[in-house]
Amino acid sequence: MGVKYLWSIVEPACKEKPVGELFGKRLAIDTSCWVVSDNQILPSHIAKPHLRNLFFRTASLLENGIDPIYILEGKAPELKAQVMKKRREAKFGPTCGSATNNSTGRSRYKYVQQECTDLLSALGVVTITSIGEAEAACAGLNLQGAVDGCITVDGDAFLYGAQTVYRNLSTDINNFVCQEYSMDIIESRLNLSRDKLVAMAILFGCDYLPDGVPGVGKESALRVISTWKNGQALEILKSWHSEKMDEDSIPLRPPHCSQCKHPGSLRVHAKSGCLLCKTSCYGGCEPSNKACHCKWHENEIRYEELAIREKVYRLKELDLEKIVDEFKNEVHIQRNGGVIRPWQMPCIQTFLNIATKKLKWESHYAAEKILRFEPWIYLHGLATQKNFPVTLRYRFIFEELILDEQEGKKTSNELCRGLANKEGEETGTFSKLSRH
Ligand SMILES: [Zn+2]
Ligand SMILES: [Zn+2]
Ligand SMILES: [Zn+2]
Repeated sequence: MGVKYLWSIVEPACKEKPVGELFGKRLAIDTSCWVVSDNQILPSHIAKPHLRNLFFRTASLLENGIDPIYILEGKAPELKAQVMKKRREAKFGPTCGSATNNSTGRSRYKYVQQECTDLLSALGVVTITSIGEAEAACAGLNLQGAVDGCITVDGDAFLYGAQTVYRNLSTDINNFVCQEYSMDIIESRLNLSRDKLVAMAILFGCDYLPDGVPGVGKESALRVISTWKNGQALEILKSWHSEKMDEDSIPLRPPHCSQCKHPGSLRVHAKSGCLLCKTSCYGGCEPSNKACHCKWHENEIRYEELAIREKVYRLKELDLEKIVDEFKNEVHIQRNGGVIRPWQMPCIQTFLNIATKKLKWESHYAAEKILRFEPWIYLHGLATQKNFPVTLRYRFIFEELILDEQEGKKTSNELCRGLANKEGEETGTFSKLSRH
């Protein structure tokens, strides 16, 4: 489900971009988000809709000079499994039948993931199985600088540390666009840091706490969170959950006049006038849209904060530490010695077999489609030659990336850029060329 309200909250930070502008980027893709949606949307007469779309999307990404790294789901985190089990039991009662259904669902999904892996490796594209959630592994790679961004529909990626998320890639090749969200813009424009997003997940609801903190409203929580400094959110929530607040009660909002918006009811104002409007009796109030500055309104956000605090304190079953740990735990792929190999030449024969057997494509149609890769293969081959401008080489060739704890931040593109910089300076051409 992801974090409730998240996409609508970060919407103002969204930039629509032609996918062509992502040329030269290496992106981690949360494979399951495409597989699940494709199998739900496309008409049933199309064989293996998830494989069909995976082919066309991968072809489009490669044509646009993007090196896709497909991330497959690993084991669901223990905390999520517990939450799912509790939810099932609340709905259907404690039965062992639901557990069986769940494991069947998972093995069916494993089969689908294997089909995707087979197709992708025939296309020369690498797949990596995450330890836990795929969006978490995408985010982890992005945070470490191993990839330039993530493609996912799951907003949890930001909470796991993603820096740039691409969403809603169109399938229309004539208008191949996507939505870009960067954490820099979310932080600078919306004043929402990663820890504030984790706080939102706890208050509004997420995979690890589906109902959030009951009774907390979106708007008032956002007003309260906006008053916090970045980096403080989780400490604040932890203290709210563990310490009872000193205030005995939160004052109720006094009645306000519906005309002038000042304290006092409309009836009283009509009878005796309003002090702030300086109207006397029988004068009546003029309608106003100005904010009220009475004592209660001056303290409104503070009272909203106290109300939320009280609800957080009362939610005893909330395991804040565990949820925070889950989002902050950054080891979602086997890093030591893990290898991300770049795109390599497709295996045409294997692809034709999959296309005719699984996708039920005619062989001439399949052959025509795989030819879409030809320009990319050609440029890729050209870039490996000696006389190819070294400053452009890294846009066509991604190097193998070995993940290890110390070197995790060093990406192949940085290495390539470093190389281009060094040699480019000698010829004096590098400064004129930069990657967008
Ligand atoms: Zn009034
Ligand atoms: Zn008034
Ligand atoms: Zn007021």
